Amino acid sequence: MARHPATPTHLSDMQSRHMRITMKRRAWEAIRSEVAAAPDDLETGGILLGKDTNGGVTISVAGDPGPNAVHEPTRFLRDLNHAQRVAAAGWEHDQSVWVGEWHTHPRSNPVPSPIDIDSYLRHLADDELEFDCFISIIVSPSYEPAVAACWVVTRDAATLTPLTIESDTA
Ligand SMILES: [Zn+2]
Repeated sequence: MARHPATPTHLSDMQSRHMRITMKRRAWEAIRSEVAAAPDDLETGGILLGKDTNGGVTISVAGDPGPNAVHEPTRFLRDLNHAQRVAAAGWEHDQSVWVGEWHTHPRSNPVPSPIDIDSYLRHLADDELEFDCFISIIVSPSYEPAVAACWVVTRDAATLTPLTIESDTA
């Protein structure tokens, strides 16, 4: 899928090191409610939309999985048509672009699996998508309390990166 339906906006200055990842509270709450609603033993997830902001990325939208997503214990396949609709709405709303994805690991640590890394590397290798990095937020709901980790994935590294939750008015 395209990151957005209109003329590409380059995220050329993004660097994975020292990158500041911020998430709007409404996006964070969207993830929390999807995780709470999902079956305990199956993965769920969605796309992340946001914008390049001064040495980092601000995530404004966390998409839901969509009606045709495939949920398995160790794999989640997003509903591509649904993801495209979410991405088109984000672009229309405030020119947000596809910056990454979130998903759950019901029974394991919030660390990208080999399958996850393969899919991120495919996105990074796709010149049309123009990703310099791909943001992956992984939630492990079996922990008490649930744990979330934010990874900034480039062609040669996946870097654990602090995630700041920001109020929607900021
Ligand atoms: Zn995974």
